Amino acid sequence: MTTKPFHPPSRLLMGPGPSDVSPRVLQALASPMLGHLDPEFLRLMDAIQFQLRQVFQTENMLTLALPGTGSSGMEACVVNLLEPGDKVIVGVAGYFGERLAEVATRAGAKVVRIEAPWGEIVPEAAVIEAIRTESPAVVAMVHAETSTGVWQPVDRIALAARAAGALTVLDAVTSLGTIEVPVDEWGIDAAYSCSQKGLACPPGLSPVTFSERAVVAMAARRTPVSSVYLDMQKLARYWGPERVYHHTAPCSLFYALYEGLSIVLEEGLAARFARHRAHHAQLVTGLEHLGLRLLAPPAHQLPTLHAVRIPDGVDDLAVRRALLNDHGIEIGGGLGPLKGKIWRVGLMGEGSNTNHVLLLLAALRSVLDRLS
Ligand code: PLP
Repeated sequence: MTTKPFHPPSRLLMGPGPSDVSPRVLQALASPMLGHLDPEFLRLMDAIQFQLRQVFQTENMLTLALPGTGSSGMEACVVNLLEPGDKVIVGVAGYFGERLAEVATRAGAKVVRIEAPWGEIVPEAAVIEAIRTESPAVVAMVHAETSTGVWQPVDRIALAARAAGALTVLDAVTSLGTIEVPVDEWGIDAAYSCSQKGLACPPGLSPVTFSERAVVAMAARRTPVSSVYLDMQKLARYWGPERVYHHTAPCSLFYALYEGLSIVLEEGLAARFARHRAHHAQLVTGLEHLGLRLLAPPAHQLPTLHAVRIPDGVDDLAVRRALLNDHGIEIGGGLGPLKGKIWRVGLMGEGSNTNHVLLLLAALRSVLDRLS
């Protein structure tokens, strides 16, 4: 057994997440512990709720940070809004759409999959038609499909769902803090995200927000939520005025999230989205000069996550290893059917800046020259 201290090597995190974290956030993590019912800690929770409402662009009372990574938000939305036998439409055009469909299937829901090939959007017209013919209880879509870099349009789908009396769930894991997620304007009933991508905090928290309609639907459930840990009605009693114990909140992560959200709001959402667009454009130009192409069509390409096609004859792993070992840069590989076919380059939160872009392009050029 070793007791040597662990010193993480210096890295630029340019994969699908986690993304780089500012020194302000790291410093917040080192603050002393507080009890999870300490009045000062409860004040911090209130402040985080206030900040999250601004970032989600919502007035939803039930807006909070769940313990766990983005997947805990996904599970929470599914198990709270669906009961066994309920019908849900899920848009599937990548790994995370598949994950949503799997979570809903395991929750006992009847899943209607509206699919598209990985790298394309799920056609809005097909989802809207299915809402008309299937009368689902819930429609669940991935806003930013991290496995393909595709930016899924969802506003017209949310409108159609609302008109049909269905609730809309939005996976905003890779979109929140990097592109518009106007929850109230679009009429989204439940949205979830993560701390470690666009919000530039460590992994471990999942911001979620639920509309009044969703709260009413949860109160009218015929069966109890299968998860006690992710039961939003119980969580609401911890985050609301009653402050009933539910779980031991990971207080250091809350310090970090508060600091990370403060940075987001100091920058301003519009400026932050513009910064992501600008560095995305810079990256795309540089990739084109290197002869590299993106998987997603330009009209639906996220500024946050880029699926770069690996040229024929280039060894995926050898390039990623060289970037990591020789240049200290992490990028991601492909998932599922895209394994070995794409690299995934993230420009998220703190990491969406000119230095990251230029360093990656220079490192890629040198590695490709050597290995091709
Ligand atoms: N949904 C999307 C779109 C994601 O990109 C991810 C993770 O990358 C998840 C859900 C799951 O989040 P986590 O890995 O934080 O549990």
